[in-house]
Amino acid sequence: MIELYENNNLIDYINAYAENKEFDVCPFCFPPNNKLRAEKINDGFQIKCLNCDWQIYIHDIITDEKIKDAIRKQPYIPCTNTPEDFLPAEGKYRVIGVDTFANERFIIGDFDSLLIAQGVARLECGTMLKTHVYDDGGRHVYEDGSF
Ligand SMILES: [Zn+2]
Repeated sequence: MIELYENNNLIDYINAYAENKEFDVCPFCFPPNNKLRAEKINDGFQIKCLNCDWQIYIHDIITDEKIKDAIRKQPYIPCTNTPEDFLPAEGKYRVIGVDTFANERFIIGDFDSLLIAQGVARLECGTMLKTHVYDDGGRHVYEDGSF
C-alpha cells in the first residue's frame, strides 16, 4: 500500500499498478523498502521512495478503486458455453472466471484496456477460482488465480 497525498495531506492508501507491475516496493532499495508515497499531480501520480531518490511519474495509474468501479459498471453478459464466450466486443478485453471446483465458467465482463482487465482478473481470482483475459481476437493474454 502506498500513501496517497494531495496538497501534502494524506488522503488515501492505494495499491498502484502500471503496465501490470505493482508499485509496492522501491526497485532500488535493499532490503526492500515499502515506504512509498504518491502525490497527485495533474492527471497522474508521482510515486516516490522515502528512503532513496527513486521516483516515477505515472499518467494512468490503476488503483483497486478504479478496477472495482469498472466491475460495478459492467452489464451482465451470460455465458453461452460456446467459443463466443472467449470473444469480447472489438477493442475490448474479456475477463472470464473459472470455478475449478464446480468446473463452471462465467463472464466477468468486457473492459477497455488490458491493464484494467488484468486488474479485474487479479482482484476476482482466488484459490480454485482462475481468471483469464482474452483479447478481441480470442487470444489468451493473461491468467491469475490457482487451482
Ligand atoms: Zn528506494
